Amino acid sequence: MSREMRMRQLQFIVVAWLVVTLSSASGAVTAQPASLSPNVLGERFLLQISYDQRTVGFNTSRSRIVTFRRDGAALQMLDVSDAQRSDPPPVLATIPISRETPSTLDVDLNEAFNTLDREEDRTGEDYYGRIEMHDGIAVRLFDRRALSVAYHGATLVFDQEARTNDGQQLIIHYYLSAYQPRADFRRFEMKNLRRFGFYETYPQWRSSGWVLYATKFDIHEPIVFALSSDTPKQYRSALRDGVLYWNRAFGRTVVRVIDAPSGVRAPNPDYNVIQWAPGGFASTSYIQSDPLTGQILHAHIFILPHTLAGGDLDQQNDQLRYLAAHEVGHALGLRHNFAPGGMTSVMDYFKLPQILQIGSEIRAGMPSLAYDTAVVQHVYLGAPLDTDTLPPFCTDSQQGCFPFRSAPKQSNALHGNVSTDPAHDPLRQ
Ligand SMILES: [Zn+2]
Repeated sequence: MSREMRMRQLQFIVVAWLVVTLSSASGAVTAQPASLSPNVLGERFLLQISYDQRTVGFNTSRSRIVTFRRDGAALQMLDVSDAQRSDPPPVLATIPISRETPSTLDVDLNEAFNTLDREEDRTGEDYYGRIEMHDGIAVRLFDRRALSVAYHGATLVFDQEARTNDGQQLIIHYYLSAYQPRADFRRFEMKNLRRFGFYETYPQWRSSGWVLYATKFDIHEPIVFALSSDTPKQYRSALRDGVLYWNRAFGRTVVRVIDAPSGVRAPNPDYNVIQWAPGGFASTSYIQSDPLTGQILHAHIFILPHTLAGGDLDQQNDQLRYLAAHEVGHALGLRHNFAPGGMTSVMDYFKLPQILQIGSEIRAGMPSLAYDTAVVQHVYLGAPLDTDTLPPFCTDSQQGCFPFRSAPKQSNALHGNVSTDPAHDPLRQ
């Protein structure tokens, strides 16, 4: 089937879904039906999930390639992300069919999505090895309620409210779209984490063995980050500087910054939002990527102003320049680099004087740091990696690798520093 036909079918599904949803929205129903064309059974879709936890914060769930299969009075959503495990593919969800016509199947997604996978797209071989062994870490969802269905370009967005067994209230965002990987996306196979680190896809079996691809954006068009509309004016310029730091690392214009329209907040299916987030858990960055190619499709960044170490406005802005550059680095796929050896990467943690120095250098438009330049040009642009001049590298969870290693022994290394994301937990960066 042609791509155009699939798109038309998806649009039909979404329109039908919306009609059904709107017609039932006024009732006190907890489960809204959705309509699916029988013609798309067997087609591949991309399913991406993120969720807000009121007490812990934001997170994402591992992206999947799925298909739908009829099974009596239900549809099964099959996980076909991993071709090696495709016989039989795991059932991600069983979706009851509530009504059927020759051209439509009314189904209940709220009933179907009753578990949440805690695995996420920010992952790497050091989290679990280079061989796919995980069966997921799923939690049950209780008191589920469909909140809304919306259509964003070719992506259907379904929002659900639920709670977990331990009483966490969640708002869960499901993005479903026809799976159309860019044919011209240039994958980058990661061989190891010895010299540099990117987040990676889960391992995939090929005839050559297990492969993992770096997660990274496609750069045929600029990567656009949008400052949330509630970002105070006096900090916007510094955040822009931090984002645009990466253009110096690329050696050309790859990233852009815009002001998000009013009301746009992270997560958002249409924007890579840099969310001003007073009261959040930690400044951090999340990516959602194509599980097969590693192409990053959504990035959400949370900037927590209360973690700044004080100082006057100029000093706060220099801290924000470093912080934005660090978090955008994660959004571009880069892992931490905690190797001792001076200021060679914004992906390291620093004490306040170094943070202020990096911030002021970003403000002054000085060249990007050596590690950052070398690895983004290598992974994104295919430039050769000069291992003689490449600064040392190590990352979270590698033995003996932790921030501030070159500093004298101290009991409170983070005291007085800009608090970026915690390093002790490799799953939260
Ligand atoms: Zn970090």
